[in-house]
Parts: sequence; structure tokens; C-alpha cells
Amino acid sequence: MRLSCLLALLLATVPCGGVTADGSMWNATSVGDVGYVPLEDLRSFYKLMPIAQPRESALRAVGNGALTLIFGPEPRDISIQGIRCVLSHPVRENDKGDLLVSKTDLIKLIDPILRPTYITNRRAVKTVILDPGHGGYDTGSVTEQVREADVALLVAGKLATELRKRGVQVRLTREDNRHMSDQSRIDTISGAEAPIFISLHLNSGRSDMSGVETYTTTPAQPGTSEKPANEHDAANAALAMALQAAVVTKAEARDGGCRRAHYSLLNSLNCPAARVELGYTTHPDEAARLNSDEYQNRLAMALADGITAFATVMNPETTLKALPPPPPPPPEPAVVEPPKKKTEPPKKATPRKRRAAPRRNSSRQRRR
Ligand SMILES: [Zn+2]
Repeated sequence: MRLSCLLALLLATVPCGGVTADGSMWNATSVGDVGYVPLEDLRSFYKLMPIAQPRESALRAVGNGALTLIFGPEPRDISIQGIRCVLSHPVRENDKGDLLVSKTDLIKLIDPILRPTYITNRRAVKTVILDPGHGGYDTGSVTEQVREADVALLVAGKLATELRKRGVQVRLTREDNRHMSDQSRIDTISGAEAPIFISLHLNSGRSDMSGVETYTTTPAQPGTSEKPANEHDAANAALAMALQAAVVTKAEARDGGCRRAHYSLLNSLNCPAARVELGYTTHPDEAARLNSDEYQNRLAMALADGITAFATVMNPETTLKALPPPPPPPPEPAVVEPPKKKTEPPKKATPRKRRAAPRRNSSRQRRR
């Protein structure tokens, strides 16, 4: 199956040493109680180059030819490969005019998107829980053209069918027009093997607002209390980006961005989770589209592709292709059972045969 989703693309475009981007390795400076990292450090770590922007532009961009990160125009905006994300903290400038990016955003948004295979608690996805929002007397947003609870259910049904065709285990929190409490939605996860949870909703607002927005729980940061969902902050960001990128590129929805918010349901989930607002019921053209079977099919196919891309990078067997050294260790012969040995005498002194092996950076030495 062809994977053209952003996460799959990024796997091959982010060369950086096999180093985790955890909090300890960055030289953060504090602004108030928020730790910030210079964009130069980020650029150097990911081996990205500055990209010139039109003069007087509020944008700063870095990239490597295949990957582009653009900061701005608003202080909380970042575009990663053309997909918008809203940062938890605004970028700032120091007195030398250098851009500063919050450590929280770097570790819990940017790094998991650029290098999802480094997510520390990643595990293969086995079950997808689909949660059509609202239901029963709770209709969600209703306009003359569209009813949120109905469209969410229709798209969830189409998505479940597509995922099952791809061999994925799926559960739905509701399969008909009934009211569900948050707790009964959470209970759907019970006993599910390695689940991810995806809520589907429609948005409402001013009549000129449109587009898809994908939400995850606000990441844990110093001074805030942790929610169960915060254990998956990094995976949440990668999941949101996979879904948002797929819907924007494949269903051609306007990009309203990956965002963070405290939804009580999302906060309570102890697995990677996201809430996709598929469009605005209050935008006349978008509402008409959301009500059409053809667009619902496109949304379902796009979401299925996003889920597939996320599942691929979360599989521990997926490795970062651009990492040096590239050759994987040769496969070990299948050993059915280790030979039973008698207990060996304890080794008292291990000769250090490899100590004199040539150093890897010998090219630098040779130049001298
Ligand atoms: Zn809703």
C-alpha cells in the first residue's frame, strides 16, 4: 500500500544522529517559567538550513530540501511540511534577534512529528476505537444543512468499514443514534489490545470559518497537573499530524491546524488519542460538502490513510531510514530453543580486544 502521508515522508527526510531529543540535551533559557531553545540549536540538531523569506516577512523558515519548517506569521504558528500546528507557547526573540522555541513544543510536538520512531513509549497499534461525537438527544451542532451527530456517525461507519478491509480491529463507541456518556465512551476501550482513540466531530462558529482542526490534550508542562492522556503527549502529536495531514491533502479540506485543548474525554484516555473536527456546520459551502456521501467517503479514506501512516511509524519494527549507520544487523538464525548449557564459571577478566579499533571520525584526523 502506498503511504504518501507526511509521517511516512518524514521518516526519510530527517537525518540526525541517533540521539533522543529529551529535555536534558537542550540548552534552555527561561522566559518566565517557560524553557526556550534557540532555533539555531534546533536547526543544528536536525541538520536543517535557514531558508530565506521575503523581506519584512514575519516568517522564519528552516529546511533540508525535502523538509520545511516555517515559524509564523502568528507567534504560535508553525507549519511542518505545509501542515499547520498551533504551538503551546508563542515563539520569542532574544535580544540578538534569534528566534526561541519552547522546549515543550520542541519535545512534545516538533520532535515526535519529525522523528515519530523516537517516541519513547511507542507500541504497535492493534485496535482503533472510533468515537462519533454526540448522539440521541445530544445532536451536536445543527444547521439547516447538516446535523453533527449524524455526519460523525456516517463518517465513522465508513471509516470502520475501510479499516476492517485493511485488516484493522475496530470498535465504535456508538453504532446508532443514541446518547453516550463520556464514561461509556471510555469503557469501549476496556480490554482492547494496544488501542488508539479517535473522536469525530463537526465544528461551529462564524459563517466565514471553515476547515478541519485536529485536537489533542494539552501537553504536560512544569506547573500544570498531569492528566492520564499526558503519558502519550508525543504519540498524540504524531497521531494528530498524521490525521490532519491526511485530511488536508487527500480530502482537500482547508487546514485549520493541529491544536491542543483540554477536552475532558481526551484528558481521561490512557492511549494515543485525537479529536478531529471535520469541518464547520456553520459555513454554507462546507456544510453542504459535509452532508454529501461523496465527501464523507473522501474523509473516511483520508482518515484511514492517516491512521495507517501513524500505525506504520508506531510499529517498533519501523526504523528511521536516514539514520547512520544504515545497515541493520544481519538477521539472527531462527533459534527454536537455546541449547542447555551447564553453568559457566564466572569470567574474572574480560580481555578488551576492541579497544584499539579505529575511531569513526578518523576522516577528520586524517585531514590534519
Ligand atoms: Zn461536537
